[in-house]
Amino acid sequence: MGYKALIGLEMHCEISKTKTKVFSSAANSFSDIPNSNVSPVDMAFPGILPVVNKEAVKKALLASIALGCKQPEYVYFERKNYYYPDLPKGYQITQETKPAPIGIYGKLRFEFNGEYREVRINNIHLEEDAASTDHYSRYSTIDYNRAGVPLLELVTEPDFTSADEAVAFLETMRSIYRYANISDADSRKGQIRCDVNVSIMDEDLDSKDPANWGTKVEIKNVNSFGGVRDAINYEISRQIEMKENGTYDSLEQQTRRWDETTMTTVYMRSKVDAIDYKYFVEPNIPKFKLDPAWIEKIRSEIPVFATERKEKYMTEYGMNNYDATILVNEKSISDFFNEVVELGANPKLASNWMTTMVLGYLNNNDKTIEEVYLTPKKLYDLINMIEEGKISSKQAKEVFNKIMEEDKTPEKVVEELGMKQIGDEDTLRPMIIKIIEEHLELIEEYRKGRNVFDFFVGQVMKQTRGQANPSLTAKIIKEEIDKR
Ligand code: ADP
Ligand code: MG
Repeated sequence: MGYKALIGLEMHCEISKTKTKVFSSAANSFSDIPNSNVSPVDMAFPGILPVVNKEAVKKALLASIALGCKQPEYVYFERKNYYYPDLPKGYQITQETKPAPIGIYGKLRFEFNGEYREVRINNIHLEEDAASTDHYSRYSTIDYNRAGVPLLELVTEPDFTSADEAVAFLETMRSIYRYANISDADSRKGQIRCDVNVSIMDEDLDSKDPANWGTKVEIKNVNSFGGVRDAINYEISRQIEMKENGTYDSLEQQTRRWDETTMTTVYMRSKVDAIDYKYFVEPNIPKFKLDPAWIEKIRSEIPVFATERKEKYMTEYGMNNYDATILVNEKSISDFFNEVVELGANPKLASNWMTTMVLGYLNNNDKTIEEVYLTPKKLYDLINMIEEGKISSKQAKEVFNKIMEEDKTPEKVVEELGMKQIGDEDTLRPMIIKIIEEHLELIEEYRKGRNVFDFFVGQVMKQTRGQANPSLTAKIIKEEIDKR
């Protein structure tokens, strides 16, 4: 018999885009110097009082609204009580039991292998991050910089059926956090950590009915998307093997961890005697009412996200998947491209310029779009000059490099480089007649079948320093030869 997997994710993402921490005035900024962004609140000194950071609540609400969640009428926090050296208060301030979370019961549509999937969001809640610990052979260190950093925890329903699908969702969420200016969502800075829940069930049973679900195994604190993929795949195989060797019935709900060196999941603890966190409402933070007008204002500030932009680029602009993916990767690039198109540029031409020249230049020079002189208007004008035949595409590339590096319009550069194409007959025809009259012997050769055409074009280009419009030049030469 075959099996299918059910996967649910708990994705933690630090809100990195607030000035200060979620309940204290210490800076919320990544620092290499341990214990440099710390206030007495983060260290749990006696008598401290947490104060809620409005900006953190706003960003959490933004995520909640973007995920189609229901927002609570009143926001309040809860204490999750446990002891660990990275948690000096002896509890974490979080939002666990419903309806506390900043968002409940939402959904997200995301792209997976060219198709659209939808995952149900159980809840998204705002909490504080713990300090970070490092363990050495004879001692451990604690860095309180991370203590109190605002953290969003998003919990999905077990709607994923493969590791790749789960990762596609995580990539979509990372993009949303970045587009909405909630977080850099940078795994390398430890800003994203996931708990992965995996179970398997018989292939022909209905996965909509929870009664059919298998025993769930939770893998804690996986800190890269590659790790999430490997951990899920490993865990699915491990559980299938248990089915096949008859030990599956002894599988109990448990928490495991992903070991990157052995590429296996390792048993940590059983969930059967799960820790009782003794949640209760945080008494030091009065509950507060959410103003519906504020929610509407936040809603109006939500940008169009990458999934929808990419869909539009492919269906309306006829872009291929690869180019569309590159263009929506960073919001600033997609915004820039949108502006060029809104100015009236042909989307196809504009996307070619963006994906090859603009991104090529930025990658080669390790710069962002904000760090060069190019503006949407300048790129639009440059594209227009090619379309109108004022300059050749070859010339345009030269102009492009100048307008990236100098604060000049393309017109100005074209003028300075003396590049304008000569596209009027009144200038070109007399010049061509003169050239032909100076080489009348070639007309005879031409009649004998020799190709003299390129020679004449070459002469015109030489005299105009390459600025003659090529198709008009060819047309006049042909006419003048035929007349003789
Ligand atoms: P717990 O009480 O152990 O924290 P929850 O029911 O709150 O469990 O679910 C936590 C996570 O586990 C969610 O992401 C959920 O989607 C996922 N999950 C629940 N049941 C299963 C299952 N049978 N298989 C896979 N994931 C599951
Ligand atoms: Mg949590």
